[in-house]
Amino acid sequence: MKNLQQLCRPNIWSLAPYSSARNEYAGHEAHVFLDANENPYNNPYNRYPDPLQTEVKAAVARVKGVAPENIFLGNGSDEAIDLPYRCFCRPGIDNVVAIEPTYGMYKVCADINDVEYRPVLLDDHYQMHADSLLAACDDKTKIIWLCSPNNPTGNSLDRDEILSVINRFDGIVIVDEAYSDFSAQPSLRTELSRYQNLIVLNTMSKAWGCAAIRLGMAFASAEIIGVFNKVKYPYNVNQLTQQQALEALADPFQVDKWVRILKIERERMIDAFRLLPICLEVYPTDANFFLAKMTDAQAIYDRLVEQGIIVRNRTRVQLCHNCLRITIGTKSENNELIAALRQM
Ligand SMILES: *Cc1c(COP(=O)(O)O)cnc(C)c1O
Repeated sequence: MKNLQQLCRPNIWSLAPYSSARNEYAGHEAHVFLDANENPYNNPYNRYPDPLQTEVKAAVARVKGVAPENIFLGNGSDEAIDLPYRCFCRPGIDNVVAIEPTYGMYKVCADINDVEYRPVLLDDHYQMHADSLLAACDDKTKIIWLCSPNNPTGNSLDRDEILSVINRFDGIVIVDEAYSDFSAQPSLRTELSRYQNLIVLNTMSKAWGCAAIRLGMAFASAEIIGVFNKVKYPYNVNQLTQQQALEALADPFQVDKWVRILKIERERMIDAFRLLPICLEVYPTDANFFLAKMTDAQAIYDRLVEQGIIVRNRTRVQLCHNCLRITIGTKSENNELIAALRQM
């Protein structure tokens, strides 16, 4: 595998990061803050937040079983998806490889950063094969994007195939585990110490019920986290988000309860879909949503919209022709969807 200097863009490797006022005093007890040109009034909103989110990382470390130095926190996973491009990929030169279909942000960020994006089609069971991904790589491939459980298909990728990619690829492998709380598969973040080239993504937006606060996380080697910290905006996670995250992280049992309910509802919804004449197939899922092949996804989608019920139409996505992606809602929301579909 390439070392981190070989993987980084040269300008990023040699970057002298911005040093904020709050960075420089760190570690000392202080009570008079005349260093950051803040307004002394309007407490608690007048002060810049902790640039490295020390308290939140300590709480994430406890809940996720990952050391604080292996944690990056960002403005949603969106930031943790964009940063690897900015750190590792030279615009117009380097490329990335990803499974297809998958989450759309990997390609959007590649396009924004002028990095070639190489999609590799999953098989008929939405499974990934290490051989075909690696065959798409060349010496300019810096990142391989995996997503497990995958969006929009819902299934987990085969763990042995994922490990095969990590073991054989000489660049960075990013596994997006946004939905891992809903899956019985163990998270790959527990394997971090074994793999210097692995980045695992997670988010507060799904199982944690905190999409509004915008908090995403990346777990990786302390060296990779150090590069991210250099490149990120100094105050990338605002104070309100940090406070709300601390509150949520103090009660992980609430998340367990939500996940348990949503999984029961998921199975109930899948059973109901399988009985619908307009549903041809429901695909296996490890997430809080499922993908269903319908007789005519566009027509069904349109009729649901007329009734104020919005699902995700994925019919134009490769391998997802005539598929709708259904998020599991509350019991009454789910019942409303099923009732509407039974009338069609
Ligand atoms: C929803 C989702 C995310 C979450 O993104 P945030 O920016 O953290 O809200 C990340 N990855 C995948 C695959 C998703 O489906």
